[in-house]
Amino acid sequence: MSFIIGNHLINVRGCILCCFCETRVSFIEHYLPNAQDLVYGGYFNKVFHVVVPNNVNYRRVVDGNTLANVYCINCRILLGWELIAVAQPSQYYVVGRFFMRLKQIMYLSGVTLHDSLFGGANEQAPNEQDGGAIDQVGGVNEQNHDEDGRASMKQWKM
Ligand SMILES: [Zn+2]
Repeated sequence: MSFIIGNHLINVRGCILCCFCETRVSFIEHYLPNAQDLVYGGYFNKVFHVVVPNNVNYRRVVDGNTLANVYCINCRILLGWELIAVAQPSQYYVVGRFFMRLKQIMYLSGVTLHDSLFGGANEQAPNEQDGGAIDQVGGVNEQNHDEDGRASMKQWKM
C-alpha cells in the first residue's frame, strides 16, 4: 500500500531512518500524520533503536505535559520525545506515543519527513487550529499542502 505526500510516493511498509546515521527508528505505518503539528514534528505510535533515558534530567514539563527525550541509539542525536504524562489527552496526544522531529528522520529515499512535506522550503509554522475539522486517521490520507491549505491556516492565526 502506498500513498503520496508532496511529490513523494510513500510505501507504508517502508522504514523511517535517523537522518544522521541511517539507523532504522520506525516504520511509516507507525506514523500518524497530523496537519496541525507537521512543522514541529510528527506523532508515532512506535519507535525503536532509540534511547529514552530514565532520568528526570532528560525530561521536561511543557504545559503540564511530561516529555522524555528520545535519542538515536547509534548517533545519540535528539530525535524527539516520548509523551510520559499528558494533561489533556487528544486524538494524537496520548501517553506512550512519540513526537518525533521531522527534520531528524527520513525515508529510505534520503528525504527527511519534513522536506517531503514542505519541499525543503522554510515554511511558516501552522497555527492553532480546531482539531476536529482536520483530524485524519490512518496512513492513507491527503495532506492539505497546497497554497489554499496554507492560506486557510493563516486565517486561524490569533
Ligand atoms: Zn542516528
